[in-house]
Amino acid sequence: MLYFDNSATTRVADEVLEAMLPYLREEFGNASSKHYAIARNARDAVENARSQIAALLNASPNEIVFTSGASEGNNFIIKGVADSYASKGKHIVTSSVEHKSVLNTVEYLSQRGFEVTYLPVDRYGQVNPLDLEGALRPDTILASIMWGNNEVGTTNDVFTMARICESRGIFFHTDATQVIGKLPVDLQALRATFVTLSAHKFHGPKGVGCCYLRESHLGPRPNLTPLIHGGSQEQGYRGGTLAVHNIVGLGKAAELAGRDLQENSRRLTEGGDWLSTYLVAEVRQIRFNGHPSDRIPGILSITVPELNADLLVQWLAAEDIAVSSGSACSIGEPSHVLKAMGFTKDEIRRTVRVSLDASIRREELACFAEHLVKALM
Ligand code: PMP
Repeated sequence: MLYFDNSATTRVADEVLEAMLPYLREEFGNASSKHYAIARNARDAVENARSQIAALLNASPNEIVFTSGASEGNNFIIKGVADSYASKGKHIVTSSVEHKSVLNTVEYLSQRGFEVTYLPVDRYGQVNPLDLEGALRPDTILASIMWGNNEVGTTNDVFTMARICESRGIFFHTDATQVIGKLPVDLQALRATFVTLSAHKFHGPKGVGCCYLRESHLGPRPNLTPLIHGGSQEQGYRGGTLAVHNIVGLGKAAELAGRDLQENSRRLTEGGDWLSTYLVAEVRQIRFNGHPSDRIPGILSITVPELNADLLVQWLAAEDIAVSSGSACSIGEPSHVLKAMGFTKDEIRRTVRVSLDASIRREELACFAEHLVKALM
């Protein structure tokens, strides 16, 4: 199979699976149990994973809270801030191209007395930091702007936006789900208060992710209402028995992402450049969406005039090739991202997303490119 839908999910790396397996077999202890060895081993494994992800992010291990993924992380941060800081203000700023786990969360809050400002994007899907600055008000408690977009690959200047918010004493959250393992992430340089990510986007398992909660903004125990009330796991931010095997997988995937970052990002850039050069030469009137330089390497959003993207995806699927006509999380709806970028309904129907994996070989890429061109014709 030729898999070109890595923005939807990625293959679990062999080393990740190997690291996880003992915690599904003999090391099955509950990380919160006391005194005996397998509980201690589970706890050590969880703390090791916390250090691995903290190292990747240049953060401190106690700033990491494990979740079931980025959807939960986005819900936890946004609802947690809203619940804990409502007395300070009820205004939230976000952008019109966020993932649905942000947009539907702020929509939910807007039905409960919060006011939401949706920042527009330019034709590349990028938010202007000046628009963010202009939208902040004395009653703004949170700005949530994604780092990299899952449909078109455009990145935002979250560094400037985080600084603007920091200087105004407003929390800044960024969904970094799509950039992990592809762009360097240094949370000492990026002054975000909160960051969310998900393991399955960078060769970890599904059903696990984490949130970063900056300590310096909030003191040692930030006052965020948990999304899941329960036991005292994760400093009381998230009740529930820790999914040790998944957390170990996230940690290992983070270690590999850090180790291979430069090589992977070079390979993704080269693969993406090779593919786009090939397609430009072969397909008339092809258009590449998203920002030409501020982008995640390896995500290509393509619009072709005569194309029916859904049919193309089905045609390629019959050949055992996977691409996508939009985000897997918004099936059946026309893309809100492309709409916000000013695309007509017709242009949205003519757009496909191809997302690469760094391990793809040039022969596979060439084979894929040939099939894609045949399908486009
Ligand atoms: N945010 C972004 C930008 C994403 O691409 C995704 C996955 N499509 C999510 C959040 C949701 O992640 P998860 O599958 O871990 O809930």
